[in-house]
Amino acid sequence: MSRAVVVGGGFGGIASAIRLHAKGYEVQLVDRCPNLGGRAQVFEKNGFRFDAGPTVITAPFLFDELFELHGRRREDYVEFKRLDPWYRFQFSDGDIFDYGGEIEDTEAEIARFNSDDVEGYRRLVAHSEKIFDVGFTELSDRPFHKISTMLAQIPALARLKCYRTVWQMVSAHLRHPKLRQAFSVQPLLVGGNPFDTTSIYGLIHFLERRWGIHFAMGGTGALVEGYRRLMEELGIEIKLNATVDKILVEEKKARGVQLDCGALIEADVVVANVDPKHLYGHMLDSSQQTWAAQKKTQYHALSMGLFVLFFGTDREYPEIAHHTIWLGQRYRELLDEIFNSNALPEDFSLYLHRPTATDPSFAPKGCESFYVLAPVPNLNAGIDWKTNGPLLRQRIIGSLSEHMLPDLEKHLVTDFYMTPEDFKKDYLSVGGAGFSVAPLFTQSAWFRFHNKAEGPENLYLVGAGTHPGAGLPGVVSSAKVLDRLVPEVASSPIISAA
Ligand SMILES: Cc1cc2nc3c(=O)[nH]c(=O)nc-3n(C[C@H](O)[C@H](O)[C@H](O)COP(=O)(O)OP(=O)(O)OC[C@H]3O[C@@H](n4cnc5c(N)ncnc54)[C@H](O)[C@@H]3O)c2cc1C
Repeated sequence: MSRAVVVGGGFGGIASAIRLHAKGYEVQLVDRCPNLGGRAQVFEKNGFRFDAGPTVITAPFLFDELFELHGRRREDYVEFKRLDPWYRFQFSDGDIFDYGGEIEDTEAEIARFNSDDVEGYRRLVAHSEKIFDVGFTELSDRPFHKISTMLAQIPALARLKCYRTVWQMVSAHLRHPKLRQAFSVQPLLVGGNPFDTTSIYGLIHFLERRWGIHFAMGGTGALVEGYRRLMEELGIEIKLNATVDKILVEEKKARGVQLDCGALIEADVVVANVDPKHLYGHMLDSSQQTWAAQKKTQYHALSMGLFVLFFGTDREYPEIAHHTIWLGQRYRELLDEIFNSNALPEDFSLYLHRPTATDPSFAPKGCESFYVLAPVPNLNAGIDWKTNGPLLRQRIIGSLSEHMLPDLEKHLVTDFYMTPEDFKKDYLSVGGAGFSVAPLFTQSAWFRFHNKAEGPENLYLVGAGTHPGAGLPGVVSSAKVLDRLVPEVASSPIISAA
């Protein structure tokens, strides 16, 4: 029997484990966290439940596929509910823009701001679809470790003007400043500044249109639990609370891993769902990797950090949408400070998650569970989070109370937060970055960390820092890339009995 070990149980690692089992490998998955899911941990406190990370499900077929691969139906494990609106944008002057529903609903909302932009939005979606056809349909599950693959794509990417940033692409079609902001925030969902991120990520507009925005009932944690059950049924071994120190390499081939307790796990194939900068920086010797891998580890720019405040209230706020993006007064300047300066900006923009809008099981009766997320500089900025954490918490609560959740201070019954320090400590995320390396053009596709290791044979990479990139659709697709790279085990049962 050929054995595979997957290091890291984020969505990329989970999807890889399930796919490798279908290829006939005996699979073991190892993760240092107390629960499966990577950034999609679940916290429970004082009767409130909180998804720690991803909350927005797009391209649901990518999640269904992993169950179908083994003759199961995702619906038998977890229910997806389509949301409407997908997101509510709230501007600092109180203006509200609801995004979602059918295209006519979005157009009606756009017309309230600027009727000329309705036609521009249609053009934006049409352009986004063209990028989607190449960037998602053709390339997202394709290996990109050969320069020839990249060169073959250059004409298509140039035709689609992917050298433009997302902001430039959106501004070419929409004129109203608030609409330009609302339709350019998507790179932030994968760790990029809209003013720097390649417009390849403009495909997200069409991706959202094509399948809508969904919520996993019970939370993203319930989807992770669905995969845990599936893996248990398949006989995939899951080892939690265990950190891998080193990749074992013999004769230029990965042979397994060594845990920090000294234990060895031998394997024929090793899949790393860890931050690639950590992998090349700490888990392999420099003699075991290419010059290019060392340079990327040294120089690839990181995504921003995240400050995530989880809180429960003893009253309900029924007027708040499931997903709200609250945009402060400054946009470009604020983003510039988050990505390029060494200080914590005084102001912020926020994403507010209210799962109780869709699923009351997240909080005791009459109460609400929330998390609010502010993009902040990563640890390279040298911010002292011991002093700045409590200050930022206070400022965010004050702002939410003033703009969205009246009297929040009086109704808070529980709260705690994560800073970039926690991302580093809990997930070994280099620089405490929220999404590994940033989605710049010069860090995408062939330029990004390859899915086939730039070093030993039989070592593969999946997850946010690899091709195609961060976000759940990206990391689940990175495991699909492995389907084309990892050989099938001869004469093995591909479909397990239900
Ligand atoms: C707050 C937040 C909100 C988000 N919201 C969304 C959203 O709504 N929709 C969306 O699509 N995306 C969202 N994202 C992005 C998305 O969650 C991530 O890009 C994705 O989950 C990353 O998956 P991954 O496979 O790269 O692994 P990760 O989730 O990073 O998991 C990797 C795992 O490997 C473990 N590990 C690392 N090194 C080792 C080691 N040496 N030994 C053992 N274990 C190790 C880590 O502890 C971790 O558990 C969000 C991210 C965050 C942080």
